[in-house]
Amino acid sequence: MPPAPPHTPAPVPAHTPRIDPRHSCFQLSVRPSAIHRWGVYAEQFIPRGRKVIEYTGERCNRRETARRAARALNYMFTISSYWALDGSVGGSGAEFINHSCDPNIRGWICKGHILYMAQRDIQPGEELTIDYHFDPDVEEVNCTCGAANCRGTINVKPRPSGSGRRAKASKRKKPPLRNA
Ligand SMILES: [Zn+2]
Repeated sequence: MPPAPPHTPAPVPAHTPRIDPRHSCFQLSVRPSAIHRWGVYAEQFIPRGRKVIEYTGERCNRRETARRAARALNYMFTISSYWALDGSVGGSGAEFINHSCDPNIRGWICKGHILYMAQRDIQPGEELTIDYHFDPDVEEVNCTCGAANCRGTINVKPRPSGSGRRAKASKRKKPPLRNA
């Protein structure tokens, strides 16, 4: 008998891309995206203003969030100055929704929950996108969303100085680094 080949375990994806129907209000799918890695697509018509999916994940305090955000690829969604959800643990699939500067989804934080709402009518087959609103003072991430009004970076532009206050994004998600 030939010797058995050395055992080489197949690389296990850290997180299998799929939508958890318990948190989704519409038929959605996860497929490769032209924007970045995976994307989430509408499989049916979604009317403007409707809740599409909840962003779920493990609740992490500020210290744990900072530790996990240092990973090359992370899905931390900041919900307050202290708490964030890690979509890579118990994520609904909403964590695969890509950034666009002209998004069709917006995030709504309500009692510690992150709800993704349709900002306009979404047709079957359209990729769902949301504006990540990265802070201007975190590492700059180039944007390849392809929107006509693309600002060039996922980070929002710093406000003109004068107010003396830092621009505060309504929501923040640390950059998943474009290294894949
Ligand atoms: Zn863009």
